[in-house]
Amino acid sequence: MITIIGGGLIGLSIAEYLTYRNCEVQIFEKNELGQEASWAAAGYLDFNIPWGEEALFSLCKFSYDCFPEFIDRIKQESTVDPEYVRSGSLTLGWTLEDEVQMKVVEDRMQKRQIDFEWFSKKQVQASEPDIASDIARALYLPVTRQVRSPRLLQALTQVLNHRQVLFHTHETIQAFHIHQNRVESIETSQRRIPIDQLVIASGAWTSLLLNQLGMPNWIKPIRGQAILFYSPQIQLKHILFTPTVYVVPRLDGRIFVGSTLEDVGFDKSVTSEGLSKLKNGARKVFPKFQESLIEKTWSGLRPKSVDEYPILGKLSPLENVWMASGHYKHGIVQAPGTARLITQSILNEQPELSLDPFLPQRLAI
Ligand SMILES: Cc1cc2nc3c(=O)[nH]c(=O)nc-3n(C[C@H](O)[C@H](O)[C@H](O)COP(=O)(O)OP(=O)(O)OC[C@H]3O[C@@H](n4cnc5c(N)ncnc54)[C@H](O)[C@@H]3O)c2cc1C
Repeated sequence: MITIIGGGLIGLSIAEYLTYRNCEVQIFEKNELGQEASWAAAGYLDFNIPWGEEALFSLCKFSYDCFPEFIDRIKQESTVDPEYVRSGSLTLGWTLEDEVQMKVVEDRMQKRQIDFEWFSKKQVQASEPDIASDIARALYLPVTRQVRSPRLLQALTQVLNHRQVLFHTHETIQAFHIHQNRVESIETSQRRIPIDQLVIASGAWTSLLLNQLGMPNWIKPIRGQAILFYSPQIQLKHILFTPTVYVVPRLDGRIFVGSTLEDVGFDKSVTSEGLSKLKNGARKVFPKFQESLIEKTWSGLRPKSVDEYPILGKLSPLENVWMASGHYKHGIVQAPGTARLITQSILNEQPELSLDPFLPQRLAI
């Protein structure tokens, strides 16, 4: 039996791939499944990682390429459509300063041989007629896709139920019992459970568990606030990136606008300052956006590791503990790839992509 701590997208995706490979799995979740960062996310799938971050780029690209197969498996066993859509994206520019940033993106797309195209103002307006008329031009990336993460989480939960994964919700893991470099059991608020193999996929809360294992705070929460507009009167096909916000159109006419990056601990408040920033950013792109169109606002806690790389792989010297946390801004796109690599590592197979740049040991130095 493989035990996973954390029922976010990372934990659920690992459970999906482990059960696909015929392993028995149980998941411990301190609240309900899939209600934290993974639920809060925009769900755009992108590997536009800064030049120089090649290991992170490779992981995002590998995982992005895993998506079609992952979604096909989920669709076969669930009735919920995760809305996996090939939206394409436009990075919009107004000023010379924006242009400089767009050139940086262009440069790394060229170096990585990723398709892109420059759209003139006229082309932008032809493809997105509701965008502000003072736009200068845009960089079009056909590769950007999206998934609606609350729906993906729901669909995955159905799949895992179907595959008889044991869910223990409202049970917080609080302590570990270690004997000869193995976690022999874990303690929840209610009981003690024997452990065979253990995966820590507890997102922004991971340092609390690492501390129990005598390890430092490798991961901290970074708040992201978001707004959902219900705005069927605005036409939008592409995901938009601007210097202050990103805008993601859903299939049902709703539009996601995100997101702030705030280092405020475990505080999940939605603030007037954060929302103003998002509203102003949205209005700059779409003058038609109005306050009355706001349907919902929320925030989530991204798990940020000290070097902003996810922490993946065996937690040496422990022999039966694997880390899968710290995906920060890219946890949705990195989920199916993480699931495959962690599964392969647990099953003692050579992972399809080297985990070396992501191993926990890098942080122990
Ligand atoms: C506003 C916002 C927008 C984002 N947009 C994108 C995007 O467009 N694309 C992208 O790729 N990424 C995006 N991200 C990042 C992405 O959401 C995260 O990287 C990802 O969801 C992390 O998944 P997770 O499963 O590790 O964490 P979570 O979803 O937070 O799940 C961790 C789970 O572990 C549980 N847990 C913690 N401690 C314990 C314990 N001791 N016992 C039991 N259970 C425990 C928690 O309750 C939680 O359910 C966004 C994030 C935010 C906040």
